Amino acid sequence: MYTNQRTLKRKVEIKGIGLHSGELVSLNIEPMPANTGIIFEKNNVLIPAKVEFAKSFEFSTSIENKGEKVQTIEHLMAALYLLGIDNVKIKISGSEVPILDGSAKEFIDIFKIIGIKNLPEEKFYAVITEDINVKDKDKFIKATPSNEPIFTYEAVYDKKVIGNRKFSFKPFSQTYQAVSPARTYCFFEEIDFLKQMGLAKGGSLENAVVFKEDEILNPEGLRFEDEPVRHKLLDLIGDLYLLGYPIVGNVYSYKGGHFLNAAFVRKMIESNAYTLIPASELPAFARNDERIVKVA
Ligand SMILES: [Zn+2]
Repeated sequence: MYTNQRTLKRKVEIKGIGLHSGELVSLNIEPMPANTGIIFEKNNVLIPAKVEFAKSFEFSTSIENKGEKVQTIEHLMAALYLLGIDNVKIKISGSEVPILDGSAKEFIDIFKIIGIKNLPEEKFYAVITEDINVKDKDKFIKATPSNEPIFTYEAVYDKKVIGNRKFSFKPFSQTYQAVSPARTYCFFEEIDFLKQMGLAKGGSLENAVVFKEDEILNPEGLRFEDEPVRHKLLDLIGDLYLLGYPIVGNVYSYKGGHFLNAAFVRKMIESNAYTLIPASELPAFARNDERIVKVA
């Protein structure tokens, strides 16, 4: 658990291609003071990484402000979340965050080399105080109050090669390496369809796992036997960070994707189902069940 707000020690530039756009993009990421949050900047327009600015969810999460759009922010958001980084400005030269290796690993490796700075100000957590449910056809996300964050993803696939379908991650007690290197993936049979939709133009075996029937086309194989479900969990935590604060609660996603993840964050805000708690009060808060259960 991180007790203080954090930022980077210095500026860093990251270049790479966008998974869907195929364009070469550079990110200039700058340290920012406490209580700034995560903010993107494109063509001098600021776009806070908050659910209010999340606009489209077609195979990735995009945010938009004043006509300026940034696509595929979720793996970078997950990297910032996993390192406890609360405050940075991300200037982007194009419309999509570079995909790098398809996971959060390379962002994390770069941030660790640059160094992460603890700010004097305390970190705040969004503690879930009542049950939250969102659904979309047979997919749903539900959350209940819990003393520590627990994120679970359950997938349903008809292919054997995918491995385990359910994965849980507890960020306070498990290393981020359980999810950060899990890469995005697709099925070989989908590639034509994605390209016809103008998506996956930058996709390759360098930045995605490709499954063809019961085979993995990547020569290096998988990083985890259940890499796909771990990647879905990485997407979930990246998208949940659009709340602006790390969530403390038991969140369970059944087949959820970017759209449902954002719907969950919106519901959390609309139904006022959480309380912001400074890190120093978190253990006391978590121990006191009376404060977890909201009185009607
Ligand atoms: Zn993803």
